[in-house]
Amino acid sequence: MFTPSHGAASRRSCSVMDTGHDFEAEICRHDGAVIWTTKNARCVRGADGQVHYYEGTVEDITDRKRAREKNPPALLPHCSLPHSKKVLPMAHDEIKIGVSTCLLGEEVRFDAGHKRDRFVVDDLGRYVTFVAVCPEVGIGMSIPREAIRLVRHGEDIRLRGTRSDTDHTEAMLAYAEATVAPLIEAGICGYVFKKGSPSCGLFRVKVYAENGMPSHDGRGLYARVLADRLPDLPMEEEGRLFDPVLRDNFVTRLFAYRRLKTLFDGPWTLGDLVAFHSAEKMLLLAHHTQTYEVLGRLVAKAKGRDRGEVAAEYRAAFLGGLAHHATPQRTTNVLQHMMGYFKDHLDADEKAELAGLIDDYHAELVPLVVPVTLLRHYVRKYGVTYLATQTFLAPHPKELMLRNHV
Ligand code: SF4
Repeated sequence: MFTPSHGAASRRSCSVMDTGHDFEAEICRHDGAVIWTTKNARCVRGADGQVHYYEGTVEDITDRKRAREKNPPALLPHCSLPHSKKVLPMAHDEIKIGVSTCLLGEEVRFDAGHKRDRFVVDDLGRYVTFVAVCPEVGIGMSIPREAIRLVRHGEDIRLRGTRSDTDHTEAMLAYAEATVAPLIEAGICGYVFKKGSPSCGLFRVKVYAENGMPSHDGRGLYARVLADRLPDLPMEEEGRLFDPVLRDNFVTRLFAYRRLKTLFDGPWTLGDLVAFHSAEKMLLLAHHTQTYEVLGRLVAKAKGRDRGEVAAEYRAAFLGGLAHHATPQRTTNVLQHMMGYFKDHLDADEKAELAGLIDDYHAELVPLVVPVTLLRHYVRKYGVTYLATQTFLAPHPKELMLRNHV
C-alpha cells in the first residue's frame, strides 16, 4: 500500500499549487529517533515569479500516529487523502474501493504527475472510501522514475525499464500477491484501475514484441494478479467509466457486491438468502434472466448444503449475471412487469401515462430515470411492499444520476 505522505510529494504539490497542507511524513531526527510529522508549507516567490524558498510549520504527531495505529479509525490511513470524502447516504452501507493512487490526483506517476479523475474523485468519492495503491511506488520505485513497459518473451510477459531494461517482473508479482490479503481484509467492494498502465491497466495494455512492435492485448501485471485472485470483485478502468452504460453497470455491481457482503459476512439463514434473492429479482431480470433462474434453483436446493459453498456459488453467479449489461429490452420487460402490480390502483389515464413513459424509454426518447421515478412514486403512494424492497428501483445513489444517461 502507498501512503502519499512524504516530503517529495509536499514539495511537488507546493511547486504546483504554491501551498501544501497536512502532508504527513516519517523522518529521522539528528539524534537518530524516527518520528512522524505533519507539514504545512507555501512557496515564497520573488518579483520574477521564481521560487526563492519554502516556509511553513512542522508538527511532531508521533504520539497521535501511534495511538491511531493501535486504534485505527474508520478510514484506513492510506485513505485519508485530501480528496477522499466519506459522505455516505443513509440507504447504503459503507463501501470501500481499491483505486490506482494517481487517479486521486496524487503525483506518483513515473513523470511525477498524476491522472486525477473527476468522476472517481468528485462523484464516486462522495459515497466510497478509497484504498489507494500505487504498485510501482509499492515495489520501491522512485518518483520520478524510468518508464516501464510490458515485453513479450515467447510465452512469458516481463515488466522492464524502457531505457535500462531492468526487469521488475518478480518484484511486481510478489507485491501484487502480498497486496491481495490486505485488500480483502480492508473489505473492498470493487477496484478502479488506471487504463493503459503496464502495472495497473486492466484491458488492452500495450505489450511490446522483441522487435519493438506493440500489440494491444495485455493486462498490467499488478491488475492481472488481482483479477486472477479476486475474480468476483467488480473491476473497471477509469477510461471506460466515461461510457454511461459501463459506468452504470460498474457502480451497480459495486453496490450489489456490498449488499452480498452484508448478507454473507454475518450469520445468515436460508430465510435471509430467500429474502435477498427476492429483493434482487427485478435487477437480475434486467441484467440476465437466466441468472435469476439459475440462482432460484440454487436457493431452492440450498437446504442441508454447506453454507460456505452455497455462498460462494451464489456470489459468483450473482455477480456474473450483473456483469451482463441491462439491455433496454430486458429493462422494458421489468418495467412492464412492475406496472402490473398497479392494475387495481391506477385509472385509465394513469396507466396510459406510465405505459407511454415505458414506451418512450424503450424508444430511447427518455432516460430510464423517467419511468422509474413514476414507478417509485406509485410504490410509495400505494404501499406496494414487495416492490418497495426491489433493489432495481434504487441500485445506487440517485445523486450519481447514472440513470439519467441510460
Ligand atoms: S498507474 Fe498505477 S503504478 Fe502507475 S502511477 Fe498510477 S497507481 Fe502508480
